[in-house]
Amino acid sequence: MTDPTPPADGTDRSDPPGLADLVDLLRGRRILVLAGAGCSTESGIPDYRGPNGSLRRRAPIQYGEFVRRPEARTRYWARSTVGWPRLAARRPNAGHAALARLEAPGVVRGVVTQNVDGLHQRAGSRRVVELHGSLGHVRCLECDGRLTRDALQARLEALNADWVATLERRVSAGEIEWAPDGDAELPDPALDGFRVPDCPACGGLLKPDVVLFGETVPRATVDAAWRLFDEAEALLVVGSSLAVYSGRRFVYRARDNRVPIGVVNLGPTRADDMAAARVEGRLGRVLPRLADALAPPRGNGPRKNPSPGSGGASAPHHVAP
Ligand SMILES: [Zn+2]
Repeated sequence: MTDPTPPADGTDRSDPPGLADLVDLLRGRRILVLAGAGCSTESGIPDYRGPNGSLRRRAPIQYGEFVRRPEARTRYWARSTVGWPRLAARRPNAGHAALARLEAPGVVRGVVTQNVDGLHQRAGSRRVVELHGSLGHVRCLECDGRLTRDALQARLEALNADWVATLERRVSAGEIEWAPDGDAELPDPALDGFRVPDCPACGGLLKPDVVLFGETVPRATVDAAWRLFDEAEALLVVGSSLAVYSGRRFVYRARDNRVPIGVVNLGPTRADDMAAARVEGRLGRVLPRLADALAPPRGNGPRKNPSPGSGGASAPHHVAP
């Protein structure tokens, strides 16, 4: 069996420093994964807070601004109309695949993610709590109805066919530049004539089903995350510097409950001094090796499988929700 995307260098077979300690820490324990933006960088979605972070060209939209100012909503949906197909084209990477592989035999009990791109689920992870919501859905602020972003995309494009055609021409001509994740700077005149659809059920105001700046994580989401936490015997932080409290609180409770903490990240994290094991590295390189060690593929010949028969690999299958 080979990793879906082998490391770019292709030649480095040595284990990253700290991996053996991390394997020892996690072996035989049920794991909750706390995932951050670093998971998605290898899928071409920039981590604005990560080591290469200062890429964001404009401040993210605030909840209050979105709700109160129609022109802010127009700008948001105009950018999103052109950006969404580009973001939706992004694919899960080897790190996502490794986490999904660890969930199948029950080694990973669930993933609590700060990412809104849906890539964990597309890689095969089933027990996922999206702390900050999902760009794949849209919610009505009046009737609380929910529709898929793809369904809204069809309406956005139908309402704005001429506008989209004009804008795509300007993008092709190089007049407007798009980041790989679909983020873009739209000059004000480019917004002229853009129409924002209302809720198809009640005519209410539609909002992306993500936690915008200035909003709090919904209580039901936090509760679902704590239920996963309570099933776990170890916390593994991957791809997050833990700059945001919505994620950091899980590390604090793990520390208080003496649940061992492991970290895999590129760059420092706010959990480093609480972690019993830490690996500095690219997730697409580290996580497949971790998965090999904790849940070795059966009947696999040449690859070294440390101590087969360890508790983790033989854990019973969980029943998917
Ligand atoms: Zn509605």
